[in-house]
Amino acid sequence: MATILITGANRGIGLALVECFAARGDRVIATARDPSTVEGLAAVVSRFPDLVEVHALEVTDPVSIAALAARLDDRPLDVLINNAGVIGPQRQSSLDMDFAGWLDTFRVNTLAPLAVAQALLPALRRGDHAKILTVSTAMGSMAAKGSDRVAYRSSKAAVNKVMQCLATDLRGEGIAVAVCHPGWVKTEMGGDGAELTPEMSATGITRIVDRMSIGHSPAFHVWDGTTMQW
Ligand code: NDP
Repeated sequence: MATILITGANRGIGLALVECFAARGDRVIATARDPSTVEGLAAVVSRFPDLVEVHALEVTDPVSIAALAARLDDRPLDVLINNAGVIGPQRQSSLDMDFAGWLDTFRVNTLAPLAVAQALLPALRRGDHAKILTVSTAMGSMAAKGSDRVAYRSSKAAVNKVMQCLATDLRGEGIAVAVCHPGWVKTEMGGDGAELTPEMSATGITRIVDRMSIGHSPAFHVWDGTTMQW
């Protein structure tokens, strides 16, 4: 039984991940900006009351991150999944950019995953062959075509690089680091026309977590078991 902490766990892929890990008997620390207003998460907690606990976490707020780290006390953490993310502002083409919105996008998608990882490192160091997985996107691959959503793409390309660096810096401690593309998923972000249900994507991500190892750190995984060009 592993202990897994998931950010942005109140809806979408994050919520499906909570359910997937709990259903197979893992202990889940589900975090959300405002845990008092998250019906879907409450329903999962009621099904797995001994396995799922909910904590507040606004990933861009250093005070909120520090409070969560303190609440973990001296417990071990085996897996951190940086799932929380935003699509970015309305105007985000290279010819017409909302620069303030771009910065906000970077705060959530790029800076926060490292800030959360740094704060939780003591807990991860107490874990069993700990792993850090950040949910990125194929749109952030340098090989990806398309020029839409520049704020989103660039924030995810940047977090990929950040996670490569973290992988290098944690290799000696045996902590594996990876990023993944979760597929195109029916969520508020992915829209109704997307290909995958959150459950399909989450099932793929649990398999990625199982396969992650220090020998393949860093790696850019895809939900279906393949890997992707950085
Ligand atoms: P949703 O929009 O459904 O959910 C996003 C989650 O992130 C919500 O729980 C949201 O919380 C949380 N979140 C956003 N900002 C913050 C913040 N500042 N602090 C804490 N939590 C925050 O998106 P998905 O479930 O689709 O996306 C999950 C991840 O998957 C994202 O990183 C996304 O980029 C990635 N992804 C998704 C794809 C898709 O097709 N859906 C494709 C490729 C990648 P709240 O409810 O409070 O806003």
